[in-house]
Amino acid sequence: MVPFRQFVLKVHSRCDLACDHCYVYEHADQSWRRRPKVMSQETIAWSALRIAEHVKRHGLDQVAVVLHGGEPLLAGPGRLLAIAEALESALTGLCRLDLRLHTNGLLLDDHFLEVFEEKGVKVGVSLDGDRAAHDRHRRYADGRGSHARVLASLARLRARPHLYAGLLCTVDVAGDPIAVYEALAEQEPPRVDFLLPHATWEEPPPTGAGDWLTAVFDRWVADGRPMAVRLFDSIESTSRGGPSFTEALGLEPSDLVVIETDGAYEQVDSLKSAYDGAPETGLDVFRHTLDDVAAHPGIRARQRGLDGLAETCRRCPVVDSCGGGLYPHRYRAGGFDNPSVYCADLLQLITHVRGRLRRTHELTSAQLGELAAGHGGAAAVGALAAGQASLRRVALTAAAARGPAWELLTRIDAERPEALAAVLAHPYVRAWAVRRLAGTAGEAHLGNIAAAAAIRAGVTATVEVEVREGVACLPGLGVMPTERTTISTADAWEPVRRLTAGGLSVVLEDTDPYRDCHQWTPAPRLTSEQALAWQELFAGAVEVIGREHPAYLPAMAEGLTTLTPLSPPAHGRDTSSAAREAFGAIAATLPADAETLALLLMHEFQHVKLGGVLDLFDLFDARDTRLFYAPWREDPRPLEGLFQGAYAHLAVTDFWRARRDPKGRERFARWRDDTAQAIETLLGSGTLTPLGERFVRGMRESAAPWLAEAVPAEARRAAQEERARHRARFDRT
Ligand code: SF4
Repeated sequence: MVPFRQFVLKVHSRCDLACDHCYVYEHADQSWRRRPKVMSQETIAWSALRIAEHVKRHGLDQVAVVLHGGEPLLAGPGRLLAIAEALESALTGLCRLDLRLHTNGLLLDDHFLEVFEEKGVKVGVSLDGDRAAHDRHRRYADGRGSHARVLASLARLRARPHLYAGLLCTVDVAGDPIAVYEALAEQEPPRVDFLLPHATWEEPPPTGAGDWLTAVFDRWVADGRPMAVRLFDSIESTSRGGPSFTEALGLEPSDLVVIETDGAYEQVDSLKSAYDGAPETGLDVFRHTLDDVAAHPGIRARQRGLDGLAETCRRCPVVDSCGGGLYPHRYRAGGFDNPSVYCADLLQLITHVRGRLRRTHELTSAQLGELAAGHGGAAAVGALAAGQASLRRVALTAAAARGPAWELLTRIDAERPEALAAVLAHPYVRAWAVRRLAGTAGEAHLGNIAAAAAIRAGVTATVEVEVREGVACLPGLGVMPTERTTISTADAWEPVRRLTAGGLSVVLEDTDPYRDCHQWTPAPRLTSEQALAWQELFAGAVEVIGREHPAYLPAMAEGLTTLTPLSPPAHGRDTSSAAREAFGAIAATLPADAETLALLLMHEFQHVKLGGVLDLFDLFDARDTRLFYAPWREDPRPLEGLFQGAYAHLAVTDFWRARRDPKGRERFARWRDDTAQAIETLLGSGTLTPLGERFVRGMRESAAPWLAEAVPAEARRAAQEERARHRARFDRT
């Protein structure tokens, strides 16, 4: 038997509102008409006794009791105090009591709050969002809306944050999900509960709840999850194998029972929406123990986990998160052996949340703050890299044709997942998948990916591969010389060269055909001498960074995996690039000295990191097509370009800041001003999401002290002259 741990006490059975979506008064069950208005002192005493008896019998260390209605505040502060005292005296010394109250908020004045303060009662308030959404349903019997009054109560509750449990919002797909979300967030709740309106297969709801909740979820994530949202938190938790935090989702046995104002035990309250009398058990606190209730077939039905679900649900890929949805929503004349009437919505939302979860992994808000401030730590970049590994897997799955190469990959994934993970860590796997999905790359390269994974896993297989210029590229691993497109993974192959220095080890990538995603032409296969020149300069550059900017190295060691040599462009200047679809790779021409390469690595790695962040979070409105001027470019750029430039120049400024020679001072003076100006343009763009604004403000906090740093007048003058020369070049073009 699963003991009860949650008890809903219906302390008052009437309400001072006449909400049209309320399951108590507006749905099939009309039992409220037969019950006393207020829970009597005797019923309270028996209820407390039954709970205490149950706690003792099952050795429970905590129970939650929710004072509910109707509207529980109609019971008055005196009755609520008596209930709290009865529970307290019955349970003190036995277990912890988590006492809560759910209210429509209309009567919540300081008198009530004093009682709740004294007894530690936490208060949840129903708010359906902005005024339009709330007053559409939550109206007095005479039609007046209740929004203004609820907001006044919430102001009082926010003044006692330790009593503020959160908000309960009934979803209405007719309302604007973002306006509702923003109105809820404005009330600074510690938690929000989104409740799907009660409906059954007999009375189905309007369509669109999946879209509505998905839009709210995306906005909540983009905002950096400012409060807990029980529905979303439960999906994420169950997707990781953890518990659900709501009766509405998950496979855990229900441990909730309702006690009505007349002492009758009932099943989950929302069953009132199914049919008249649906929640009834025929048992009550005066004659029956809670163990008697636990044995009731209706209660048992909600405790059977997977076995208690409809066949469709048992075969569903998201059943461990969904659990068939809220029990009453499964009702169709004849019973509950059906998926939820919200099945399509739940499937859509859970799939969406899981997709996002796979990408976001565990990048914490503190780590995001570190990245915003500049270099970021190894853990933050590790989380970005983990997100990229998931993205590559998703991209590969979407791009790959099903056939022998795919079968080989799935076999390796099952037997030696680390071998496939190592191949997926190579940046240009995603570059191929992106092109394949766009129809600009063939499918044969999947064979090269499978061959690389097979070699890493020690699996001998014959694979069809893409061959260019007499070699088959083995992504991240090397090349196999061959003239044939069918290779054996047992054949000889040449390993890729690596550059190593100061704890960094990166692939010197000069073979992968998809390394040409950096807008510049990649260098052809390097000679041994050229590879040696790269190694020497790389070692020098890492030494410079380690000496002058040691804080940048751990993140680089974690996220920089690949250096791709570029052919010198016609203009003859040093060139470098990072590509959004190739996280971890930097492409560059071989510069003249180690200092230049160090600067280039710091600059481009900023692009790598920001690309990783943008793949996980919405920092600005991607639909905004306006162009913005960056101080260092003659052409206006989309916001992402300005964002990338500002973030990269944060590191460029930092690089020159450490240099005290005249050139270093001049560059520092120039880049700090230009970077600060770009940051202000971003902040004034009006297109940043709240999370994006936080991120850019983090950038500003790093740059602000630099503006106050003393720089010789000569360096400032030289910086201005350089800027003017630069502008003059724009004007001529
Ligand atoms: S999504 Fe549908 S089929 Fe899957 S468990 Fe939920 S209700 Fe059942």
